[in-house]
Amino acid sequence: MAEYDYDLFTIGAGSGGVRASRVASAHGARVAVAEEHRIGGTCVIRGCVPKKMLVYGAHFAEDLEDARHFGWEIPECTFDWVKLRDNVMGDVDRLNGLYTQTLESHGVEIYHERARITGPHEVTLSSGEKKTARVILIATGARPHVPGCPGHELGITSNEAFHLDAIPKRVLIAGAGYIANEFAGIFNEFGAKVTLINRSDQLLRGYDESLRDRLLQISIMKGIDFRFNAESRKIEKNDDGSLTVHMTNHDPLVVDCVLFATGRIPNSEGLGLEDVGVDIDEKGAIKVDEHSKSSVDYIYAVGDVTNRVQLTPVAIREGQAFADTVFGDKPTTVDYHCIPSAVFSHPPIAAVGMTEAEANNTLGSVKIYTSDFRPMKNVVAHRNERALYKMVCDAETDRVVGLHMIGPEAPEIMQAAAIAVKAGLTKADFDATVAVHPTMSEELVLLK
Ligand code: NDP
Repeated sequence: MAEYDYDLFTIGAGSGGVRASRVASAHGARVAVAEEHRIGGTCVIRGCVPKKMLVYGAHFAEDLEDARHFGWEIPECTFDWVKLRDNVMGDVDRLNGLYTQTLESHGVEIYHERARITGPHEVTLSSGEKKTARVILIATGARPHVPGCPGHELGITSNEAFHLDAIPKRVLIAGAGYIANEFAGIFNEFGAKVTLINRSDQLLRGYDESLRDRLLQISIMKGIDFRFNAESRKIEKNDDGSLTVHMTNHDPLVVDCVLFATGRIPNSEGLGLEDVGVDIDEKGAIKVDEHSKSSVDYIYAVGDVTNRVQLTPVAIREGQAFADTVFGDKPTTVDYHCIPSAVFSHPPIAAVGMTEAEANNTLGSVKIYTSDFRPMKNVVAHRNERALYKMVCDAETDRVVGLHMIGPEAPEIMQAAAIAVKAGLTKADFDATVAVHPTMSEELVLLK
């Protein structure tokens, strides 16, 4: 008889949990997963994937307009939100099925219920059933943080944004990070009047200042309003169903929908972690070592619940490294250096490595190369939107330490360029590469 029911019991079947469970099983472990919502987690069910589909859907607003300048006679177009929403949700169902299939085909047992740790090596499912495992992995992700002002329950978060009955006429988005800027673009393209408010005076903290300025300028040009140093103080419902949002330093605003995009907090509560001695930091994140092991020897954690880098590909790598280390006899750590990222705003931003400010604070001397250009497509389309690429180099070694782009397809271009930055190539290496002409990405090898 085996000492435990399973070698691994994973709580949470999102990006990190699914990868860890599947790989552990392929390494020969007996694995079970408990998931109280849907297999796939935030990214697949209510995050990156459906968001990107909405971004595509939204961009047609501009593409259809631009097409007229390319000679296409386009009759007056209408947009059917419900059709897009349902098609997107249909694809989410498909992916949910694929993720479930992946686990099943690897022999992973799935419990569609909540689980909590109730003793050493023991979890209890909401049905009351108890299971034991040699190792327990917490991969419960994070959830939207909503500031606690009176009336905050009248607002929604990104979770609900995918299921709206209609596109609101007026939307207030609280926050100015990833989700705020992505949904500001989406709602604006769909014809809503969008106002973005943020507690500080900047958007997308952490990104290079020149790109943030460019996004702000283009967003304003597209009709998005911004209010800075504005924190929501009170939300009231009016007789006609609209909402009045009171905020610091600005007049109240009447809107039809308030979307909170004010960060995400780790889902570490209600799991019995404190009872077995798992250390949690002041933000609610599970503290782990470089192998994702918590302060308790048999409990590990990966993904957003550890609040290391809240990105899907990072959670996947953490899940893979955990499984290889613990069940594959191949100790592996995740390399957090030079992680590329993107914001799917209109236009999108992509970045890897140090910003100009970070480089100035870290390196002895820094050299900056930029290209500020109007993409060819925008010229013909009479679209007055300029792209900006910035390369940050260590002036002593010529090494490229950061690359920042805002413009059409920037995230697609970044994936390949990030390989060069991660590999430690120099500006001379970029310059030695012949341009692919005519493209936007050729600017990367022609930077002055
Ligand atoms: P972000 O951390 O990107 O932005 C949070 C925003 O909310 C900031 O503008 C912040 O202001 C503000 N804020 C934070 N706390 C409060 C508060 N208590 N009251 C008022 N405002 C507050 O979070 P998001 O919610 O946009 O996204 C969560 C995470 O999900 C991201 O950090 C990212 O890791 C991930 N994500 C990634 C995406 C991608 O890769 N494209 C897309 C969507 C999400 P301030 O600047 O002043 O701190």
